[in-house]
Amino acid sequence: MIPVRGLEGRKVAVLGLGRSGLATARALEAGGAEPLLWDDSPEARGKAEAQGFAITDMTRERAFEGVSLLVTSPGIPHLYPAPHPVIARAVAAGVPVDNDIGLFFRSFATPDSFDQMPRVVCVTGSNGKSTTTALIHHILGEAGRPTQMAGNIGRGVLDLDPARDGEVVVLELSSYQTDLARALTPDVAVFTNLSPDHLDRHGGMGGYFAAKRRLFAEGGPDRAVIGVDEPEGRHLAGQLSVAPEDDRVIRISSGQKLDGFGWAVFARKGFLAEWRKGRQMASIDLRPMQGLPGAHNHQNACAAYAATRTLGLAPKQIEAALSSFAGLPHRSQLVGEKGGVRFVNDSKATNVDSAAKALQAFPKVRWIAGGLGKDGGIAALQPFLGSVVKAYLIGHSARDFALQIGTTDHEICETMERAVARAAEEAQAGEVVLLAPAAASFDQYPNFEKRGEDFTEKVRALLQGG
Ligand code: ADP
Repeated sequence: MIPVRGLEGRKVAVLGLGRSGLATARALEAGGAEPLLWDDSPEARGKAEAQGFAITDMTRERAFEGVSLLVTSPGIPHLYPAPHPVIARAVAAGVPVDNDIGLFFRSFATPDSFDQMPRVVCVTGSNGKSTTTALIHHILGEAGRPTQMAGNIGRGVLDLDPARDGEVVVLELSSYQTDLARALTPDVAVFTNLSPDHLDRHGGMGGYFAAKRRLFAEGGPDRAVIGVDEPEGRHLAGQLSVAPEDDRVIRISSGQKLDGFGWAVFARKGFLAEWRKGRQMASIDLRPMQGLPGAHNHQNACAAYAATRTLGLAPKQIEAALSSFAGLPHRSQLVGEKGGVRFVNDSKATNVDSAAKALQAFPKVRWIAGGLGKDGGIAALQPFLGSVVKAYLIGHSARDFALQIGTTDHEICETMERAVARAAEEAQAGEVVLLAPAAASFDQYPNFEKRGEDFTEKVRALLQGG
């Protein structure tokens, strides 16, 4: 745990008592503050009480008298579409609002008792955050550097162990988190890519981008790793560079050749290349890397490569670690192989954008899709269906999807069990049976993880069955 500094003897309200809210309350107490806990859900309040915390009703009038700060959870709107009433009350009383990330930055590694100062790497972007974060953590671990990972992935930030000498903490941060944190001072900041998401919470695309770019504020990170495949990334990279040859910014791309900048890492046709000051420094063949299939994962590999290069790792060390990365569960995860047919779980592909990336990652796909379809349908997937040999449609949206995929061969399977069985039966050597639903899971499962686990179980049962 990281005790929160600078709030000794102060009353601090904590809104939202999920995992990170309770970790925050503990960290505040450990630092000598007095946390006042509230959650709208009686269930969450009950859980907190069961863990020995007292509850304070922060919805009542004058609840914020004598309170120094309000700390809120990322799931709670603080401005758009409308602020939560407790946040509105704090703001009206002039009480500042922060989150656990802000508290982390003011509390982590402040005393200068280190031989080698710990460093913090933050990863943000629309897609690939978890993969890139886990990959950076994996590469550092393989190279023998002390490292911990937290944020949106794994533990809450204030749950981390106290900093060690020379340690690198890798944090995955969502736009909700970067939007609100009052202190945000990473040593290395990574921006993977940008596509529209959560626009209702940010008052539109401009607000969404503004929330993400807060990581890169003036006087911010020593190094910035920026995906330049969208206009927003190009703009940000340009703004942070003093000149094109400036190497504070490392530009990354999946697809573009970037040899005219101070420092760049890009992937083309399956090869990663690093260029610095007009010279090629390294080249890595990404095609054999089982845990990183497809151009989207090559983008993640570029981001992780660049971030770990700034921390002093050698290209050979990074290459070895890329090879041993197993991938994260439910994101392009290889779960089995039989007779030349690979089975890949990308249950996290809940929207059209990520499903399109998954479909492009393999030349011949037996595609398991469907679930609870999202607004706008899947017509936008049409250009990416060239690799689909046949679709096996499940869940609520099965018939709807069948109508939207035009002439692509398909079969309504309804259940995962049937879809896996039929796809496996028909698949030829060299093909991939891919779960990339392009839909939410809530019609048949509690969440995308459970859906991915079901796919994995069905595949394993089938592979063991002979
Ligand atoms: P995030 O944490 O940003 O949601 P994940 O690494 O969990 O990102 O991946 C989410 C989904 O997006 C998965 O379906 C994954 O296969 C896909 N994906 C991963 N990396 C990228 C990328 N660089 N660009 C687009 N899609 C990606």
